[in-house]
Amino acid sequence: MEGLKLASRQSSPPTTVWVNSLAIGRDFVLIAGPCSVETEEQMLETAREVKKAGANILRGGAFKPRSSPYAFQGLGLKGVKILRQVGEAVGLPVVSEVLDPRDVGWMAEYVNLFQVGARNMQNFSLLKEVGQTRIPVILKRGMNSTVQEWLLCAEYILTAGNPNVILCERGIRTFERYSRNTLDITSIPAVKELSHLPIIVDPSHAAGKASLVPALSLAAVAGGADGLMVEVHYHPELALCDGEQSLTPRQFSQLAGQVFKLRKFLEHSLLKSYQEEKP
Ligand code: PEP
Ligand code: MN
Repeated sequence: MEGLKLASRQSSPPTTVWVNSLAIGRDFVLIAGPCSVETEEQMLETAREVKKAGANILRGGAFKPRSSPYAFQGLGLKGVKILRQVGEAVGLPVVSEVLDPRDVGWMAEYVNLFQVGARNMQNFSLLKEVGQTRIPVILKRGMNSTVQEWLLCAEYILTAGNPNVILCERGIRTFERYSRNTLDITSIPAVKELSHLPIIVDPSHAAGKASLVPALSLAAVAGGADGLMVEVHYHPELALCDGEQSLTPRQFSQLAGQVFKLRKFLEHSLLKSYQEEKP
């Protein structure tokens, strides 16, 4: 693919991104937690439950890129501190979205991974700034972006010096209105053909509805995704952000069980053949 150097499949064997002892790209990663950090109690309750269900990274947004300036914008520094503290209390590494290049330096002290959101995929100053750290970056696909544009954004981070990039498919905008976005499953094998970077899937923002999340998650796993990022809230009806698409801890636990079963089945059959039969 034109313009790809460091991100291209030819340039490197499959990348493994290390987060503590977790080898993302080799080990399946299950990221879960609320859309946004609201209170310590909310984070702690949710974190305990998702860990018990098998999640290995905790998510929680402290800076929320909301369509309306009047919507809840996140707790900022306070939210990042709560996330970190709760992560340490339950023993889970944490990921949070960074919106502004000026926040990269201090946030690096608190988070184990940065998330660059869909709306910021092409924020080149932000990409260069996170590229100057060694903190793993989850780079979400822009809702109107092609796979090529997405990989070129990964290239920005790599070329700035940070090799720890994880791509995250979160659905693209189409004419369909029933779901919030359309999950582009095709991008999983496409990325695997074009790049050595791991790719995970966020079924929550693709679906926009909790009822659709389990099927999309399983489809992503069957399609070869290296992990999932799922929104979970202990009381979705009270969530300050994205409650409609959030699973309850109980629903998440059921889903995690199905995901692990499917992974086990696939490990013995399909995933190996995906890897071996690359043209
Ligand atoms: C999020 O993860 O809460 C989020 C805002 O995601 P996206 O950037 O994919 O919309
Ligand atoms: Mn969200």
